[in-house]
Amino acid sequence: MSDWIEYAERKPESAGAYRWRLPSTGTPGLFVTFVAHMRLRGAGHESVVSPSFDYWDGYRLLLPQGVQWQEVGGVTDVKWHGYGEVAVEGVEPCACPYCEKVPVLKGAKRYSDGTLSHGASPHEYSSWWLECCSWARTPQYKDPHDLVARRDDAIRPATPTTNWIKCSDKLPPIKQKVLVYRLGNKTNDGPFFAMTCGNEHRPWRWLDGDRCDITPTHWHEVPTPPTE
Ligand SMILES: [Zn+2]
Repeated sequence: MSDWIEYAERKPESAGAYRWRLPSTGTPGLFVTFVAHMRLRGAGHESVVSPSFDYWDGYRLLLPQGVQWQEVGGVTDVKWHGYGEVAVEGVEPCACPYCEKVPVLKGAKRYSDGTLSHGASPHEYSSWWLECCSWARTPQYKDPHDLVARRDDAIRPATPTTNWIKCSDKLPPIKQKVLVYRLGNKTNDGPFFAMTCGNEHRPWRWLDGDRCDITPTHWHEVPTPPTE
């Protein structure tokens, strides 16, 4: 992918689809990227080629601050007045557990009375949701970071974790019963149950409180017990 070009320094020379990057005005703090067209439009007495998310105030053609662009690089099915391939930097939803596709990030501008404007440019979006199969349309959120974090939490139980945590990275909360394992050069120990006691140098205890003479290298959360 090529580098971003400052629109204020150099504009695309011809009409057509381009990828845009600009700060969000609808959800301040985010950078939004999307595909939209440069198209010929009237601007006072003349016609100019300008991005579809421009704004004519009656005197001048205005664009949001900080617009950057690059070539789309390939074909796009984004319509002449549409917006496509909307993404928010730092927001990367994981694949849907039902259809195994990465869901599409959608958004709209929400007015103070709660109604949504679906024709707004993605940089104006103030309400966000994800769509893939009919099983997995999410509620709407003001910030897509929250949206993706909540969704990941919700779908995580569908994929059992088998991730052992290195004790050198992080210890479990004090007195939480966990499964531990010692990965050794010649022999391994475990897995067995243990807990930590908060002692900096010798943190591990057996479940009865006695000091554990094996130093685990890894630990794992105990699954929630069955209820039926
Ligand atoms: Zn799905």
